[in-house]
Amino acid sequence: MLILTTNDDGIHSPGLTTLVEALKSVAEVVVVAPDRERSATGHALTLHAPLRADEIRPGVYAVDGTPTDCVNLGIHGLFERRPDLVVSGINRGANMGDDITYSGTVSAAMEATLMGVPAFAISLACESPYPDFSAASDFAAKLSSFIAQRGLPPDTFLNVNIPELPAEQIKAARVTRQGKRVYGDLVVENVDPRGRKYYWIGAGELGFRDLEGTDFHSVHRGHISVTPLHMDLTNYRSFEEIGKWDLPHP
Ligand code: MN
Repeated sequence: MLILTTNDDGIHSPGLTTLVEALKSVAEVVVVAPDRERSATGHALTLHAPLRADEIRPGVYAVDGTPTDCVNLGIHGLFERRPDLVVSGINRGANMGDDITYSGTVSAAMEATLMGVPAFAISLACESPYPDFSAASDFAAKLSSFIAQRGLPPDTFLNVNIPELPAEQIKAARVTRQGKRVYGDLVVENVDPRGRKYYWIGAGELGFRDLEGTDFHSVHRGHISVTPLHMDLTNYRSFEEIGKWDLPHP
């Protein structure tokens, strides 16, 4: 089995390094990752500039692009073989609820799914300055072997979140649904040393709705959360109401 790994925290992040070491026990592993932190770049693709892929060690490429660029290059450009699985992470910090559309980590797994390669994203719900990625890496290796044997349903990828706890305190994995974020509406306005205003977004306190069955609910109770995702953003539950609308004629 050949596993392509990537992330959005950058090629030097300890979450990726620890992941790669663990995956080497179950597969051949190659790395194509951004050359710097590209968190919160979502599913961005670089279409109007060249990309450079610098092979810093055999099978390890640093790319001056987004996580989605990395997966695209890793599947189509850099290797003779197509990977059997793409693993994105281990992200420093959770990727749950509404946050996932911002996430480069999750979008990388989404890109692999679009290319027809099974994939999962994995994140550690950590807040400490030097998080321990080993329990999350062990889980990633086991999950990779499991997916290699079982496969994934069509158009489905997994979003995995691991609680930041000592390995023996982490509880069983649960299949969850995507939860609900409560965003703080804070924009910080300040003045730079040259007297010009600047703004900082995303600085507010973040909350979440503690709903049974969600990713947030499971991780906050010490369980590993595994959320199956797909690309279809259609809101089927709205069909009944919106289907009755008398939409404007062209
Ligand atoms: Mn990140």
